[in-house]
Amino acid sequence: MKIETTCVQEGYHPKNGEPRVLPIYQSTTFKYDTCDYMGKLFDLEADGYFYTRLANPTVGCVEEKIAKLEGGVGAMMTSSGQAASLLAVMNICSAGDHIICSAAVYGGTFNLLDVTLKRFGIDVTFVNPDADYDELDQAFQENTKAVFGETIANPALNVLDIEKFAKLAHAHQVPLIVDNTFATPILCRPIDFGADIVTHSTSKYMDGHAVSLGGVIVDSGKFDWAKSGKFPGLTTADESYHGVVYTEKFGASAFIVKARVQLMRDLGSSPSPQNAFLLNLGLETLHLRMRAHSDNALKVAQFLENDSRVSWVNYPGLASSPYKDLVQKYLPNGTSGVISFGVKGGRDAAMRVLDSLKIAAIVTHVADARTCALHPASTTHRQMTAQQLAECGIGEDLIRLSVGIENADDIIADLDQALHA
Ligand SMILES: *Cc1c(COP(=O)(O)O)cnc(C)c1O
Repeated sequence: MKIETTCVQEGYHPKNGEPRVLPIYQSTTFKYDTCDYMGKLFDLEADGYFYTRLANPTVGCVEEKIAKLEGGVGAMMTSSGQAASLLAVMNICSAGDHIICSAAVYGGTFNLLDVTLKRFGIDVTFVNPDADYDELDQAFQENTKAVFGETIANPALNVLDIEKFAKLAHAHQVPLIVDNTFATPILCRPIDFGADIVTHSTSKYMDGHAVSLGGVIVDSGKFDWAKSGKFPGLTTADESYHGVVYTEKFGASAFIVKARVQLMRDLGSSPSPQNAFLLNLGLETLHLRMRAHSDNALKVAQFLENDSRVSWVNYPGLASSPYKDLVQKYLPNGTSGVISFGVKGGRDAAMRVLDSLKIAAIVTHVADARTCALHPASTTHRQMTAQQLAECGIGEDLIRLSVGIENADDIIADLDQALHA
């Protein structure tokens, strides 16, 4: 099946007389006829549901669709994108381990690795994702267990050279984890370029309507944990599961099975069936929306680039972008909907533009059907001084625009009148 068909048709396959649309199994628990059968479920000997913290039929169908969209062997949904990043890392890192992460990642990921996981003994080195192979190679340590980056970074919009990062990670026998939230599998499938694990905040484009928080981890099934020898959690007995060895029992699905039966069991950041249902509705139109977001954003970025009231524009799809070659390779069908730009007149002018917008709303969120805008310096980053803002690449004049799927002419006219104001 082509990816558009997968968006619409995969995951839920009703049998004769069953509901055509994926039902919401709003049940925490599942009924069995014998203790013996349920015992087999707990021993991971039989397939089936026993408690919605671990698995649920509605959630399971959506997981199957997402696994197919990304080209993985399995997926596990989580209650948020943050939980997906956390569990993806925790599944292979313990106290005393180290991770290499692109410095151009989502703020929540940065804090998770820089502050919270450090308190649990997992160390991190942030690297410039645009650095060359040899420079990046220097960041590896004896205890490095994973490399992490974002296909299109939120909000810096760097495009990750996935093959370069995969090659580096694999040279050190560790996996590459790619957060594919902004690209979605419609614009880029990181596994095709060597990524081993893919994560998402489904709260963004996948849901697409800003109605449900969620996250997902997809396992490519391609990383050879046993051959690497660096991941005893996957290759030696898990005493909390009667000594199961995940790589021996589950083969290519070892990573994603462990994430579920060990970490989801113990940490419990499960998605709700209702949210899985809403996410599935979003996924059914993901292919149409990502094209519309990308087409509109390119038109808006070109308008801004040619406007004398604008001092600079950052959008990977522009011909002037430093990521032009990487875009051609990894994002040939569009570069998603987020743009950042600066207005002449700095902080006050930027705030006046935002306050004057009529269609685009001021919200902290990005990546849903409605165009929205944010001035980080006066909102999300308002505790920072002008110098701190400059250090993290967020000028006082910066506006982040999430271009929706309205008519591009209307979005441009709205920006034009706001810039005039
Ligand atoms: C929003 C976001 C997250 C965190 O996801 P939540 O669903 O908000 O928890 C992680 N990564 C990226 C790239 C994001 O944009």
